[in-house]
Amino acid sequence: MGKQYDVVIVGSGPNGLSAGIVLAAKGLQVLIIEGAETVGGGTRTSELTLPGYYHDVCSAVHPMGYLSPYFKTLPLEEFGLEWIIPKASAAHPLDNQEAVLLSKSISETAHNLGIDAEKYQKIVTPFVDQAEDLLSDSLKPLGIPSNPLLLMQFGLKALQPATFYSKHAFEGERAKALFAGCAAHSVLPFDKFFTTAIGLMFLVTGHVENWAIPKGGSQNIANALAAYFKSLGGELKPSTKITDYKQLPDAKKYMFDTDPIQLAHIAKDQLPPSYQARLNKYQFGPGVFKIDYALDAPIPWKDPRCLDASTVHVGGTFAEVAASEKDAWEGRECQRPFVMLSQQSQFDTSRAPEGKHTGWAYCHVPNGSNKDMTQAIESQIERFAPGFKDTILAKRTMTTQDFYQYNPNYLGGAITGGAADIFQLFTRPVARIDPYSTPNPDIYICSASSPPGGGVHGMCGYHAAQSVLKSLKIR
Ligand SMILES: Cc1cc2nc3c(=O)[nH]c(=O)nc-3n(C[C@H](O)[C@H](O)[C@H](O)COP(=O)(O)OP(=O)(O)OC[C@H]3O[C@@H](n4cnc5c(N)ncnc54)[C@H](O)[C@@H]3O)c2cc1C
Repeated sequence: MGKQYDVVIVGSGPNGLSAGIVLAAKGLQVLIIEGAETVGGGTRTSELTLPGYYHDVCSAVHPMGYLSPYFKTLPLEEFGLEWIIPKASAAHPLDNQEAVLLSKSISETAHNLGIDAEKYQKIVTPFVDQAEDLLSDSLKPLGIPSNPLLLMQFGLKALQPATFYSKHAFEGERAKALFAGCAAHSVLPFDKFFTTAIGLMFLVTGHVENWAIPKGGSQNIANALAAYFKSLGGELKPSTKITDYKQLPDAKKYMFDTDPIQLAHIAKDQLPPSYQARLNKYQFGPGVFKIDYALDAPIPWKDPRCLDASTVHVGGTFAEVAASEKDAWEGRECQRPFVMLSQQSQFDTSRAPEGKHTGWAYCHVPNGSNKDMTQAIESQIERFAPGFKDTILAKRTMTTQDFYQYNPNYLGGAITGGAADIFQLFTRPVARIDPYSTPNPDIYICSASSPPGGGVHGMCGYHAAQSVLKSLKIR
């Protein structure tokens, strides 16, 4: 007979690892089983192009990781994690004018925004002043907030579709464009409720601290979490993809850092058909097409201040970004897509050989799209950085299918654990008082398909583990 564990977790993404740490820290015997050869899920770094160029395969920039209420409590620095703070969070280049820069200083950012400078300061300042409460209340399942008044003030704005909010909050194109780039992190069309929440939240995090990147790549977040987990006595078993419940070793509880469809399939004999049917109805939203670049030189932005930002929002005006997101949602590949771009080697010399650089760029495409978006992405970058193509030494592309092959959680290339619209933001994967629990008291979900959703913050894993502890009657 094999070893009996207290908890077995399927999947070693940031949420699986976070759940494992919570439980191992309570003295439980925890095993994390990972399908891939290395730990990390969406936080992995690899030489995807040429030797000596270290690319973030998935996540690159980590405002939520740096500010995560849970990560903050862990000694991750002692386990090798080093955060790098760039000069600015995001740059948003526009045609025939200076780029807009989002940086920690509210007044400097506002100064960029011309006619909307004063309004912008009034909007963000109260939320930045109370950002700790705002983040901890937003990064948890529905429940009693610690600061109800603040959450209500934020919610009144956040609930609105980004198109509506932007029209009423700002007059000029510069503020609208900055807001659009942040709202596009929602991977939703801007006429959906709650798209303003994501836009405002990304602006607020940018004023708490410039969006951080981990030295050496996002793999180092996973490595630090895994090393800490092991130091607490946790066990890791890589290269073991779970497709059937019978593969799982004996344990009191099982947690799935997987998407809901896999959970329904793996635990088909353990979960009631009605619950499986609800899991199988889960909506994933658009996928991504991504390019990693080895570059001979920094990206030749027309406005060189763009080099100060860990993220560049490449897509032009609010209307253009909104059209791109609408296209991806409605099943069309946009010819002038909104491109999320990162240039990590600008701040971290360990990513590329001396004098050389890495580039990381993706756009949203319809779920399951097969289309090669290289030309469309590069035209958009060239629009604001003429000569960019001449700096390319090598590149590697990933379609939505490549992403699904890489990580079975990314169904159709969807990268944030499923659509975060009003129907699924708080009720993922299905509506239940305890969203991490299932009708089977031994089975839990802890992935980004549970609240609070996508991003590298570990909060889904943290809250799911609290639910398991409660069921084991451990305080
Ligand atoms: C291209 C891209 C860019 C992104 N950019 C950012 C960013 O800049 N910042 C940010 O915060 N977030 C970003 N994200 C999102 C972020 O990576 C995810 O939200 C986060 O990784 C989710 O963590 P998780 O633990 O829920 O799942 P995952 O990270 O997906 O990890 C799940 C793990 O479980 C394993 N697994 C799945 N099924 C099985 C199975 N059946 N058997 C065994 N193992 C299994 C997988 O191999 C994987 O290792 C990005 C994602 C992608 C793909």
